Amino acid sequence: MNITDQIQISTTEVIRPTHLEIDLDKIKQNYLAIKQHVFPSKVMAVLKANAYGHGLVRIAKLMQEIEADYLGVAVLEEAILLRESGITLPILVMGGILGNQIPLFIKNDLTITASSISKLEQIEEAAIELGKKALVHLKIDTGLERIGVHYYNAEEFVKRAAKFENIIIEGIYSHLASSESQDKSYTNLQIERFENILAVLEKFSIEIKLKHISNSGAILQHPNTNYDMVRPGLILFGVYPSSGITKRVNVQPALNWKSRVVYFKVIKPEHPVGYGSTWQTDENTRAVTIPVGYGDGYFRKMSHQAEVIIRGKRYPVIGTISMDQIVINIGNDSAYNDDEVILLGSDGNVSIACEELASWADTIPYEILTNINTRVPRIYK
Ligand SMILES: *Cc1c(COP(=O)(O)O)cnc(C)c1O
Repeated sequence: MNITDQIQISTTEVIRPTHLEIDLDKIKQNYLAIKQHVFPSKVMAVLKANAYGHGLVRIAKLMQEIEADYLGVAVLEEAILLRESGITLPILVMGGILGNQIPLFIKNDLTITASSISKLEQIEEAAIELGKKALVHLKIDTGLERIGVHYYNAEEFVKRAAKFENIIIEGIYSHLASSESQDKSYTNLQIERFENILAVLEKFSIEIKLKHISNSGAILQHPNTNYDMVRPGLILFGVYPSSGITKRVNVQPALNWKSRVVYFKVIKPEHPVGYGSTWQTDENTRAVTIPVGYGDGYFRKMSHQAEVIIRGKRYPVIGTISMDQIVINIGNDSAYNDDEVILLGSDGNVSIACEELASWADTIPYEILTNINTRVPRIYK
């Protein structure tokens, strides 16, 4: 068990003021909104990277409660943790595999991503040895140049794949490089390549139950590519992959990142704040210290740009963000020890979106969410 799981047992055990409040009902509503939008296609809830920071096991349990169709993770360890936590939903591991991992997949009823004939041969061998059929989704590279058989070599691959006796080819999929972009040309090209492979399947009467390609961006912008299943990650957590995107499905963020004031002081001119002494005041100003830093995933890169909410008002972070603490300039206003601080989220009237943190850190919302460290307790409601 990691600290996150321990803390999930009882919220009264949480003593760290810096924490995430996660609204499970919002995630459920987001799942249902996606499900309704893509019906009759199935929905694979993508829960890699600690469920985009929201807590892998707890979110998987929610998905099990609402009978999600499929779960997707990136690495074998995530999938095994879910099995050990009692998750019985089908789980696809979307990353590349190594030969010695294959028996663990088969023993744990996990769906393997296969992207070459030689991997399929290894899977077949392991399946025979264990006396149990292996469940596989074939991965086609239509334009990302990571794992996957090139679309132009896919015909031979799918024909060979269909012949293994101890492998069930349950799915075939590909992944999109720029589905969130307003320029749809590259996605359309990838879809066309995928369509050509589906035509090959048709031509040779190779039946594969689950054909899938859509991530969040494609669900929002390419509704004709839902096929048998879609694979939303980010929008399941209520965040849109880019600002200009078509918001075809209405989803809401489920997370508030909060802390509390732990110290108050008045800072005088010529008394710089923080490591490197990068900021100082012209006149006396009030400042409070908050126990959060880049060690929690509050990126140092956001120094001199980030703001937080205290008592319904936004205030700037001053000085460089350190590992465990930040300093907030509250000017002539008042704030007291124990006052709630919102780092990300909303207090009803004022809000700070994930996208805003991403722009301060010169990154994408995905990286903000997946970097909120496990030392930040998750509290569910
Ligand atoms: C991460 C991932 C997804 C989900 O992507 P989002 O943009 O978060 O919806 C889907 N498919 C694959 C293969 C992935 O790696």
